[in-house]
Amino acid sequence: MTFKRWSVGQTFSLLNRIVPNHGCGCLAMGVALLLSTAHAGAAPARNVILFIGDGMGPAQVQVGQAFLGAPLSFETFPHKSTMTTSSANAPVTDSAAAGTAMAAGRKANNGVISMAIPGSTGEVLTVLEYLQERTHRCAGLVTTAYMTDATPAVFGAHEPVRGNTAQIADDYLSRSRPRILLGGGGQGLSPAAAQAAGYVVVTNRAELLALDPHDATPVSGQFSNGNMPYEWDGYGGLPHLAEMTAVALAALEDRPEGFFLMVEGGRIDHACHINDINRCVPEVLEFSRAVAVATNWAAGRTDTLIVVTADHETGGLKMLQDLGAGTNPVVSWSTTGHTATPVQVFAWGASAALATNVVDNTGIFDFLIAGALLEPLCVGLEEGDTPFGFETRWAGVAGYGYRLERASILAQSDWDTVAEAFAASGPLIWVDTNATANGPFYYRMISLR
Ligand SMILES: [Zn+2]
Repeated sequence: MTFKRWSVGQTFSLLNRIVPNHGCGCLAMGVALLLSTAHAGAAPARNVILFIGDGMGPAQVQVGQAFLGAPLSFETFPHKSTMTTSSANAPVTDSAAAGTAMAAGRKANNGVISMAIPGSTGEVLTVLEYLQERTHRCAGLVTTAYMTDATPAVFGAHEPVRGNTAQIADDYLSRSRPRILLGGGGQGLSPAAAQAAGYVVVTNRAELLALDPHDATPVSGQFSNGNMPYEWDGYGGLPHLAEMTAVALAALEDRPEGFFLMVEGGRIDHACHINDINRCVPEVLEFSRAVAVATNWAAGRTDTLIVVTADHETGGLKMLQDLGAGTNPVVSWSTTGHTATPVQVFAWGASAALATNVVDNTGIFDFLIAGALLEPLCVGLEEGDTPFGFETRWAGVAGYGYRLERASILAQSDWDTVAEAFAASGPLIWVDTNATANGPFYYRMISLR
C-alpha cells in the first residue's frame, strides 16, 4: 500500500469523490461518501428518513405553498440545497436513473434500477442495503405509486430495465427484504408471493391500522392494483401517504440500531405529466403532511435525519399568479415530460448540515451514508474492477492536520491508520495504488484538530 499526498492551492468542494486512477476501459466503480470537516464531531443519525416527491421541482413546492397559504412542512427545515438531476445518458432523467443516483451514489442510464450501466453492469450497493446489511438498521419503503415502480425499486432491487417488475418484486421479497413495503399492488407483486416470503399482507387502510407495530413480521401493504389514487379523486378505504408514513415509523422505531425509511409522493409526477394542477396540488400537500408526520415523530430526538427532495421536475411548471390560500394558482406548463430543472433538498436533524454539500443527485447517497455512519468523516470504497487503484480527494481545511484511516468492513473497531497529512492550502489527494487488489476498503479522514 503506497500513498502519496499533496495539496492543491484551490478551494475544494466539501463533497468528496473517489475516482478511478486509471480508466482501464471501465467506468467509475467507486462509491464515494461525504466528508465535511466542518462537522467533525457531529453525532451520526441513527434513523435516516428520505422523502422523495416524484416530479416535485421548485414550482411544485411553490404551488403547494400558494394553495396552503403557508410554507410546506419541509420548507422551514434549517438546511437546504439545490441539486442537478441529469442521468448518465441524458440531461433529462427518468425516475430510475435519478433514483439510482440518490440510492447508490452513481449515475446510471435512464431506466436502470441500481446497476452499473454504463459500466461493469454489476449491481451497485444501495443506501438501504448498506444500512441494513452493514449497520443492522431495518428498512422501509413507502409510496403512492405501485410498489415495484422505479423510485422504491432503486433502493431494494437491481434490474437493468425498470419494467422488470416481477424481478423487482422478487428482489424485495427474497433479497433486500425491507421490514416495511407499503404502496400500490400488482405490477409483479402479489399477496400470494409476499405471504410465501413471510410477509403479512394488508390491502386496505383498516387492515393497515390494525397491525401491531411491535410485531416484527415484515409487512407488505398492497393497496389497489397499480398506482394508488390521486388525492383529488378520493381514497376510499385506502391509506393516505401520511398514514402509511405513521405506520412505517411505528413499526421501524423499535429497532435499537435504527432504521432507513424512504417515502415517495409518487403521484405528483403523474399529475404533472398530464399538466393537471387540480391533481398536482393535493399530491404536494399530502406529501407535505407525510413529512410533518415524520418531523412530529422525530421532534425532540437528536438521532434522526430527515431529508426531503425530488428525483426531477415534471411538466415545466411555472406559477404565474398566486390567487391566495384555498385556490389553485394560475400556472403554465411547458411539457408533458420531465425537465432538467434542478430540484431542492431540505434537511432536518442529526447531520442535516451536510445537506449544503449536495449539489448533484449522487450526493444524496453520500449525504445519507455520511449522516448515518459510525463516524462523521468517512468515505466508502466499493468493489472495483480495475487493478490500478483509486484516488481520493478530501476537503482538508488549510492549516489543519488529518489522519487517513482504512477498514475492510464498516465496524467501529476495524479502522487502521494509514497516514497523516497536513493540509497546506487545499484538498488532500491520496492515491491508494493497490486498493482494489485487496479491497474493497473503506476510507475516512479524521480531523486532528
Ligand atoms: Zn414521470
